[in-house]
Amino acid sequence: MSSGLTFKETLYPGVEVNYACDSVLYQDRSEHQDLVLFENPVFGKVLMLDGITQVTTADEFIYHEMMAHVPILAHGAAREVLIVGGGDCGMAEEALKHPGIARLTQVEIDDAVVEFSRTNFSEFNAPVFDDPRFDLVIADGARFVAETDRRFDVVMVDSTDPMGPGAVLFTQEFYRNVHRCLTPGGVLVTQNGVPFLQRAELVTSVRHFASIYKDAAAYVAAIPTYFGGHMAFGWASDNADLRKTPVDVLTERFDAAGFDTRYYTPEVHAAAFALPRFIRDAVDEGRKG
Ligand code: SAM
Repeated sequence: MSSGLTFKETLYPGVEVNYACDSVLYQDRSEHQDLVLFENPVFGKVLMLDGITQVTTADEFIYHEMMAHVPILAHGAAREVLIVGGGDCGMAEEALKHPGIARLTQVEIDDAVVEFSRTNFSEFNAPVFDDPRFDLVIADGARFVAETDRRFDVVMVDSTDPMGPGAVLFTQEFYRNVHRCLTPGGVLVTQNGVPFLQRAELVTSVRHFASIYKDAAAYVAAIPTYFGGHMAFGWASDNADLRKTPVDVLTERFDAAGFDTRYYTPEVHAAAFALPRFIRDAVDEGRKG
């Protein structure tokens, strides 16, 4: 039963998305951002940071499966994985389903998001906190990649949008430092917004990727709460073959990993790189520099 309250998402000038609120479960201001968790009749629990939807219990599986399994299964031998951001720990939960991963390091700037999500999103993130491979670092991800001596096979940037503390995770310097931290042939994937509404963000990220990595690309998935159609995931690697990993190879790796998914399939993985024309044009514009 709705309380009559609504929460308004104000990410895009000229468009507002209103969510009915059955009840407010938590509301606070951390050192870094405003945090609110409320119950919506369609999406279940909804987390907003600074007024922008981050995760919902109903559709988190789409975003998390597509950001975690696509790079890990394309790589095929990932042992060291880094998540930058990812405070709700849904990405870590998906990544840790891969038995070949020896260590999953997550660098999140805001410990309040992790602590809060541990309590409030246990329906999807509970296994993470019992997994000895989970290595949580509370720090700015940009600073971490600039300073660490460690190397990673896969880096996933599960960030907020390019404003506030997340802005630094969309810069050329950050992508260059990630490149330094990748093992040869490793891969970076990024949360790159909804191209219909945030085209410039995708063009700029791909432009930066192309100035550093041999292969700069994007893939897509449709996630209901990331309003506006397809969401783009940025893709950058020095190994251009990873993006073209055939479905039969992905199927073999996925079957060997031995877990179920609700959105990801090897066929969806391969198809996600087939971009609608307006998104392909944005990626091509970025590649041209
Ligand atoms: N799936 C979400 C989306 O795209 O809407 C992102 C979810 S996750 C909650 C984003 C996380 O990035 C937040 O927990 C936020 O604290 C973290 N974050 C933002 N800037 C960061 C930075 N510079 N370093 C590390 N984590 C950062």
